[in-house]
Amino acid sequence: MIEHFPHVVIGGGISGLGAAHFAARRGIETLILERGGRVGGTLHSHHFEACDGFWTEAGGHTCYNSYGHLLGILDDLGLIPLLAPKQRVPFRLWRDGERRTLASAVHPLELALSLPRLFVCTREGKGLAEFYGAGLGRRNYRDLFGPAFQAVVCQPPDDFPAELLFRKKPRRKDLPKSFTLPQGLGEIPQAIADQEGLRVRLHQDIVEVARVGAGFRVGLADGGVMVCDALTLAVPPDAAAALIPAGLDEAATLARGIGVAQIETLVLAIPKHDLLERHLPPLAGLIAVDDSFYSAVSRDYRPDPLWRGFAFHFRPGALNQEDQTKRACRALGVGTDRVVETVQVANRLPALRKGHGDLVRRLDGCLAGSRLALTGNWFMGVSIEDCLTRSRSEMDRLFPAAATEPPPPDPSHAPA
Ligand SMILES: Cc1cc2nc3c(=O)[nH]c(=O)nc-3n(C[C@H](O)[C@H](O)[C@H](O)COP(=O)(O)OP(=O)(O)OC[C@H]3O[C@@H](n4cnc5c(N)ncnc54)[C@H](O)[C@@H]3O)c2cc1C
Repeated sequence: MIEHFPHVVIGGGISGLGAAHFAARRGIETLILERGGRVGGTLHSHHFEACDGFWTEAGGHTCYNSYGHLLGILDDLGLIPLLAPKQRVPFRLWRDGERRTLASAVHPLELALSLPRLFVCTREGKGLAEFYGAGLGRRNYRDLFGPAFQAVVCQPPDDFPAELLFRKKPRRKDLPKSFTLPQGLGEIPQAIADQEGLRVRLHQDIVEVARVGAGFRVGLADGGVMVCDALTLAVPPDAAAALIPAGLDEAATLARGIGVAQIETLVLAIPKHDLLERHLPPLAGLIAVDDSFYSAVSRDYRPDPLWRGFAFHFRPGALNQEDQTKRACRALGVGTDRVVETVQVANRLPALRKGHGDLVRRLDGCLAGSRLALTGNWFMGVSIEDCLTRSRSEMDRLFPAAATEPPPPDPSHAPA
């Protein structure tokens, strides 16, 4: 007999889990289907086997007290008391084989002369290079801010839409400005998945979706089939393009037009006594200028007594694993024989481009009136909160009659 569900979510990253959470809180029975062997997708706190539980983030690493939808979910799950503040440690620039301060790359006169433009120019429709090149100065963009944006989006940043980064949102001032959880951000997807009222199935590779009446038929790679009344696709744009059912062809074409940047992440752990802080002072990470990696993110914001951990985010195809390890060790100033464990993780981020707002408006026009929701990091922006903002608005659209859940409180009105 073919299984039937009121609502199926394909993709168990934070976008899919968020959509499932919002739907379940409205009383909609929801099943999540995830291809991999764990939930979280790009939220992936890697626990090193050889390091007694020590973890380092292989993907997303920081949440902020301005992430209102995320904080709403953490409130629902009782996780707010567990939030662990991140210690303030500086980023360094990695340039010409040396670690340098960020200030060393600033051209102060150019900055002073350019800054007024930052406050009067509109960022809508502009790429990062055009907007910040004008507002911070071309040389400042080339030597510091361009590489810093590249480190954030892990791809060439120039044409990335300026309006999708650094949107100002109210902060919840009773909480740490930036935070993680005791076992890393991977605790968040796991807690969402573990709550009562949600069902999650792992190792479910969805290969086909078709419309059946007002609902959908979902086909798995192993030949399995199920049907549902409402469907949420919470997968990267290329995967969504392949799954959007016939009849919504323009939506599939639009999704197919969004590129995807591949990132080869190398996560490594080094004993603290082999990488002493006097040789490499605690750092948030490295912003690389013209190198085979875009950036490195360290675990130094939650220091461990025994270990230091780093995730190096490499350009695709630039180096093999052995050379990646050598490159990472060179940047850290430690011998490769000191590394106790490495793991390679394939990360992906959408390659959003100028004019993205129009593309999303057209996509939403295609979806209007259908029981299909699309969410992910390719609508509002790539941050965890951007994902959840999209997921929330899609669940408002799919299940309006059940929208009993209050909107997330305005964090700026939270008790001090
Ligand atoms: C290196 C890096 C650092 C980052 N740092 C931060 C940060 O500090 N703060 C922040 O806010 N954001 C950060 N981000 C961005 C943020 O982590 C991601 O944008 C977000 O986690 C993406 O979530 P998602 O659910 O949209 O997609 P994903 O995490 O990609 O999840 C999609 C899921 O769908 C599954 N899937 C795909 N196809 C199928 C299929 N056919 N059938 C079933 N399942 C399928 C995949 O296996 C995956 O689990 C970072 C991203 C990267 C890459």
